[in-house]
Amino acid sequence: EATVRRIAAGEVVERPASVVKELVENALDAEARTIRVEIVAGGRELIRVQDDGTGIPPDELPLAVERHATSKLHRFEDLARLASYGFRGEALAAISAVSECEIVSRVPDAPYGARLLVRYGRPGRVEPIGAAPGTVVTVRDLFANVPARRRFLRQDATEAALIQRTLAALALARPEVRFELTNDGRTVLATGGSGDLLDALIGVYGAETATQMLRLEEYCAGEIVVQGAVGLPRVSRPNRQALFVLVNQRWVESRTLVAAIEQAYHTLLMVGRYPIGVVAVSLPGDRVDVNVHPTKREVRFADERAVAAAVYEAVRRTLLAHVP
Ligand code: ADP
Ligand code: MG
Repeated sequence: EATVRRIAAGEVVERPASVVKELVENALDAEARTIRVEIVAGGRELIRVQDDGTGIPPDELPLAVERHATSKLHRFEDLARLASYGFRGEALAAISAVSECEIVSRVPDAPYGARLLVRYGRPGRVEPIGAAPGTVVTVRDLFANVPARRRFLRQDATEAALIQRTLAALALARPEVRFELTNDGRTVLATGGSGDLLDALIGVYGAETATQMLRLEEYCAGEIVVQGAVGLPRVSRPNRQALFVLVNQRWVESRTLVAAIEQAYHTLLMVGRYPIGVVAVSLPGDRVDVNVHPTKREVRFADERAVAAAVYEAVRRTLLAHVP
């Protein structure tokens, strides 16, 4: 049983960044307005995600860490729309199977909170504890019981960079939520939660770069809407890591859409340079399939060419309007 849990965990929790993604998505599902993330040693030693959301009632804490336990009830048709990020009920079970995982939570109208510690899949007792409204999940010594996984992790700086990128994407997708990330005690990302994309851009790229970015005019092609902001060609980067593609508020991996964006920059960028920015596509839920796998950020479109064309057109028009 412990082995089954450990193997299943690998499906959902590949590395520290996937833990951060799952925990932050839970916080967003819980309607948090402020989400603070703290990591130590690339997330290997510690990952803490604190939110001010709806919390977990004490009697539901043990359930929350069980496999296939989800409070987010979905009828089959709902899966196509996916209003909330989580629906499998696997993340907390998986994370707590491969770490020392502490959950402290308080539902806002309760006078105090509750704490549950799960050590490598073995839950302790739920204890009352004084706590602010919301939830704090602390993950220590990730993969200490799965040497193969632990060996597969990259250097702390690389894991930390991946976590920062994950959080940047989430912050850009949800400008109305306040995000903060500290890495070994240093704040590396902070947004204000004002709801203005520029706020999130400043948090992710810094004020100087963010204020020079070109806002995409909202571009519609049928039911496809493209929004976002892209960098001036001269603030390009030597890799693709500062470009985020979002589909229905989810960060996705799409070679096709990245290629469409780069195509729009085609004659403006030097060889080996890549554009920065965030391109957010919205389209009806039945025209797209995101998150087909818990860790791979794949996306499938009913009409990929139409989406790519819309993205290309939105970026090209913006560049034409701003770049002499
Ligand atoms: P899922 O998100 O797919 O439902 P998880 O394993 O990620 O599964 O979480 C299990 C359950 O624990 C959730 O359905 C939710 O009820 C509860 N939960 C987890 N994190 C939070 C949080 N930050 N705030 C409120 N409830 C939470
Ligand atoms: Mg979840």
